[in-house]
Amino acid sequence: MTDTDALLATTRLTIDLGAIAGNWRALDALAHGAETGAAVKANAYGLGAAKVVPALAAAGCKTFFAALPGEAIEVRKATKTGRLFVLAGLGPATADAYLKHGLIPVLNSLGEIETWQQVATKAGRPLPCALHFDTGMSRLGIEAGEAKRIFTEPGLLDGIDPVLIMSHLACADMPSHRLNGEQKRRFDTIRMMFPEVAASLANSAGVLADAGMACDLTRPGIALYGGQALSSGMGPIAPAVTFEARILQIRNTKKGETVGYGATKTLERDSRIAVAGAGYADGYFRAASGSGVAMRQVCTGAKGAIGGHVLPILGRISMDLTTFDVTDVPEQVLEAAEWIELIGHTIALEDYANAAGTIGYEVLTRIGPRAERVYLGG
Ligand SMILES: *Cc1c(COP(=O)(O)O)cnc(C)c1O
Repeated sequence: MTDTDALLATTRLTIDLGAIAGNWRALDALAHGAETGAAVKANAYGLGAAKVVPALAAAGCKTFFAALPGEAIEVRKATKTGRLFVLAGLGPATADAYLKHGLIPVLNSLGEIETWQQVATKAGRPLPCALHFDTGMSRLGIEAGEAKRIFTEPGLLDGIDPVLIMSHLACADMPSHRLNGEQKRRFDTIRMMFPEVAASLANSAGVLADAGMACDLTRPGIALYGGQALSSGMGPIAPAVTFEARILQIRNTKKGETVGYGATKTLERDSRIAVAGAGYADGYFRAASGSGVAMRQVCTGAKGAIGGHVLPILGRISMDLTTFDVTDVPEQVLEAAEWIELIGHTIALEDYANAAGTIGYEVLTRIGPRAERVYLGG
């Protein structure tokens, strides 16, 4: 985005790199001596790997997880020395990119192991990799039957160098869920087969909920970015993101008038309305509308804020615009205001996400490219 684009942008995403670094340190302090890595997939959860990765590296992070090889290549530009794991696994066409950029594949099946062995044979040296075992998520990962074969036929790993074994928790955000203990037990069994290899199990919620999950290396993502990993609360994690929409117009409207598409909101009093320049094309979800969408049968709409004053959304969020009720905002506050906070210190990421029927992860990764990105600290 050029400077002119930034001037003209009607949404602004402010990313506090100091808070992200602080969150990494807070998670590291909870990890009981395990190494603390960072999940930076999806362009660091939409916040910009080019800025976030150096900030994390400066805080002490040495190991990063991307989802796709293309993402990891971008992360490599931001850290020459970091260890970069690629979660999505290995297709034959991607092997060259792994070698060229020093990426470590997370292998998810015997087939992928075989492919990596062929690459290693060609390269003439044992190549590093992670082995991902499925312990109860039925998503990616070497499944139990394949794992048994690896234990009984160690030759299956000839020529490659597993530097990490890992698994992923399905229910870490709900610490009392029985699957957590079950997955830990299964993973411990696998660890015994690889006593020399570092082990990784915990995402953000795993670290925050249970120090016993930390193993040798943790892989937090959402908590770094100020998201709420545990359903029970934020713990030591600080918000790191502010998302705002520019006020384009303030209008005075009469009781009985309707607002927005579908005329779903009828004003119950003479009202002051702020029209803000954010809509679903900016990743401000239509499902978070104040009225007139199906979601409203289960919860109220999202809120905005000006100077700590909370503002209901009126009617439907449209592609580029959202209308807020600013009737109760004091005159001087409103006059000075240029922006409405959509997410930030007044409107918690998780509260907005709930109002849209989703989670903070989806909110962050969907904030649109039209938003000006502003970085604090770092
Ligand atoms: C995304 C991801 C993480 C990070 O999860 P958070 O819940 O964001 O902390 C860790 N491990 C794997 C395999 C992932 O896909």
